[in-house]
Amino acid sequence: MRIGFIGLGIMGLPMAEHLVRAGHEVVGHDVVDRPFRTAASVAEAVREAEVVITMLPADPQVEAVFPEITANAPQDALYIDFSTITPQTSRRLAEQWKRTLDAPVSGGEKGAVDGVLSLMVGGSEADFEAARPIFEAVGKTFRLVGGPGSGQFVKAANQLVVGGTYALVAEAIVLMEAAGVDAAAGLDVLAGGLAASRILDLKRESMLARSFQPGFRIDLHHKDMGIILDAARTAEVALPMSALTAQLVAAARAQGHGSLDHSALLLVVEGLSAN
Ligand code: NAD
Repeated sequence: MRIGFIGLGIMGLPMAEHLVRAGHEVVGHDVVDRPFRTAASVAEAVREAEVVITMLPADPQVEAVFPEITANAPQDALYIDFSTITPQTSRRLAEQWKRTLDAPVSGGEKGAVDGVLSLMVGGSEADFEAARPIFEAVGKTFRLVGGPGSGQFVKAANQLVVGGTYALVAEAIVLMEAAGVDAAAGLDVLAGGLAASRILDLKRESMLARSFQPGFRIDLHHKDMGIILDAARTAEVALPMSALTAQLVAAARAQGHGSLDHSALLLVVEGLSAN
């Protein structure tokens, strides 16, 4: 398929690479110079596209490029937004472009590089089926979870588990180190028992080494915590653990850690007990 791909950052670039490897023709655009940036503008990237993809930081960037997409893409093009944004914005885009899917992803930079992302998709069954070759190229698990905006609600559920898990792994590290036990050996044991998680598998060594190169920036997780609490208000449910995690992420940002990986929540948790 001919694909116009907007947003070639930490996630977008490896995803575009997988699409090319799968035989698709990708015309990429980003505001900064990137390896797959072959189009100088959004208009140029989407003009002949059968599929238009965005992988941008947040609502404002998606809303900024969307008018240029609708003004220049072929009328029957399929639009897939992989960004994590609010369900309301996803629904608004779907009202303005008939063939729209919200398809936020999970799996982190490693999932994108390995082409094994999880994708939660909102939109029509027909468009989901049309997008299947794209999802197969970048992901491993993908499900249609409802109409427009639904993918963003599932992504909110994903992010509250991820954020809460980071906060708890940070607490586990702070406790073990303060008690003078072997925290590395302790985390190995946790990773082999009921407390096992992908976060423990992938991040325990870098967290113990206080290495917080992103990955997924605290700034972006702060944005996601806002989406989660807003989604909770919309759905009229109480999410106390998420509210607490949101405050820890806000503290990380306020302390100047916004550009670090979200595993840097550890700095906030250990700061609570520092003297
Ligand atoms: P990123 O900042 O690395 O990449 C975003 C890219 O968009 C950048 O290259 C930026 O220059 C470009 N961009 C910004 N505004 C633009 C515009 N107006 N036109 C064209 N390009 C523009 O961010 P990322 O980590 O790749 O995240 C992208 C999205 O994926 C976010 O919504 C994030 O929440 C979500 N996400 C990220 C991860 C992760 O681990 N990094 C995992 C899952 C989901």
